[in-house]
Amino acid sequence: MDEDKFDVIVVGGGIAGCTCALLLARAGVKVLLLERASHAGGKNVSGGRLYTYSLDEIIPGFANQAPLERQITHEKFSLLTADSAVTLDYHHPIFSEGSTSYSVLRSRFDPWLMAQAEAAGAQCLTGVQVDSLIEKQGVICGVKAGDDEIYARAVVLSEGANTLLAERHNLVSKPQPKTMAVGVKEVLTLDSDVIEERFALEENEGTAWLFAGNASAGKVGGGFVYTNRDTLSLGVVCNLSALSDANQNLAAMLENFKQHPAVRPLIRKTELLEYSAHLIPEGGINCVPPLSGAGYVIIGDAAGLCVNAGHTVRGMDLAVLSAKAAAQALIDASQTNSFTAQSLAHYRAHLESGSLWSVLQQYRSLPETLLQTPALFERYPQLAADILQQLYRVNGTSAKPLRKIIWNNVRRAGLFKLIKDGIRGARSL
Ligand SMILES: Cc1cc2nc3c(=O)[nH]c(=O)nc-3n(C[C@H](O)[C@H](O)[C@H](O)COP(=O)(O)OP(=O)(O)OC[C@H]3O[C@@H](n4cnc5c(N)ncnc54)[C@H](O)[C@@H]3O)c2cc1C
Repeated sequence: MDEDKFDVIVVGGGIAGCTCALLLARAGVKVLLLERASHAGGKNVSGGRLYTYSLDEIIPGFANQAPLERQITHEKFSLLTADSAVTLDYHHPIFSEGSTSYSVLRSRFDPWLMAQAEAAGAQCLTGVQVDSLIEKQGVICGVKAGDDEIYARAVVLSEGANTLLAERHNLVSKPQPKTMAVGVKEVLTLDSDVIEERFALEENEGTAWLFAGNASAGKVGGGFVYTNRDTLSLGVVCNLSALSDANQNLAAMLENFKQHPAVRPLIRKTELLEYSAHLIPEGGINCVPPLSGAGYVIIGDAAGLCVNAGHTVRGMDLAVLSAKAAAQALIDASQTNSFTAQSLAHYRAHLESGSLWSVLQQYRSLPETLLQTPALFERYPQLAADILQQLYRVNGTSAKPLRKIIWNNVRRAGLFKLIKDGIRGARSL
């Protein structure tokens, strides 16, 4: 292809890449997006719950046209022991505009998003794997895909959590296992009316249900179930360094989760439609790499811009925010015809002044706290279950007052450790 046929090449057609290509194309920047999967979303995995606020600013009212699944109106969080569950259940009316969220299936959603980028004028090619970047005198100026060399003024790296390209060119360092999690996910078919009955939902309402404790064999991680229109998304996630200490591999964890008495009835008579596995960056703000340099920017999961706050996982909405900040910097660069490290550094400045950065700052110490507090995933779910078991047990012996039940169990678990962990946990949130 001709040198400089494109202003910008976007590598990876996930949420970050498609959003960035869409915004660049809208601004008249000549953009080529390359996606290795045969169709957009073909290799993408999310739990997945999409918070709409960030994409809504780019495509107002997109939720009315995009192939979304169910609007989340039921939030559940369960602490699991081997055979019991303590569950917080919050049912809210549909949140006011701007703070809604939907379950999504990436195999449906990503092609729609890519089509929006194409409609805006981006050229999007699927089935093209970028093998390496072209670098001349320290400036990234194109990509190699098979025998093809394609040149551009700048490259957007949106290759997701598995940063093979960026690592190959020393743009990011290889992540430490403790800063990454791995997730496995199944999509299971179930008729929509059965979903509504089973999860006590009205038509189109949805449940986001997260699980901690036994879901990830007592290790840092958890399980999830999301209701889609006529499928369920179910999976487990475990921190990579914690997984190496676990007495189960991830496949066994998933099977164990599916067999848990709180989960088994939810997936009765379902059939497996899809199975996938994927990395999740969980290191937070301390692991964000240099986000740009001469001729390139890194966005989305590839830049580690993802937060697992325990009660919610946020990667997709943050991918959109980073794509927007990067697009702003690239549009300015193309107007001044300067794609230097200095002009592309505005991408980070845009990020730092926006809500993404404050989310990352808010959860700055959470990843480390979770790793340093294994009791959160082992001892405390058991403590909660023991307290409730004694509260609800009626067997003819004289009942103990609640304060005594709580005190006895807390003393057994270690009062000072509980206070210390409580303070540390509260500080990290
Ligand atoms: C199990 C699990 C559950 C999750 N749950 C949620 C959730 O509920 N809510 C939420 O917001 N987030 C969730 N996330 C995180 C979310 O999926 C990511 O944050 C989000 O997908 C990041 O988008 P991205 O565009 O940066 O990367 P991706 O979506 O991973 O897209 C990267 C794209 O780049 C392509 N690519 C990679 N290398 C190349 C190459 N060399 N050449 C060409 N193309 C390439 C890939 O095929 C892919 O399409 C979850 C993640 C996992 C794994």
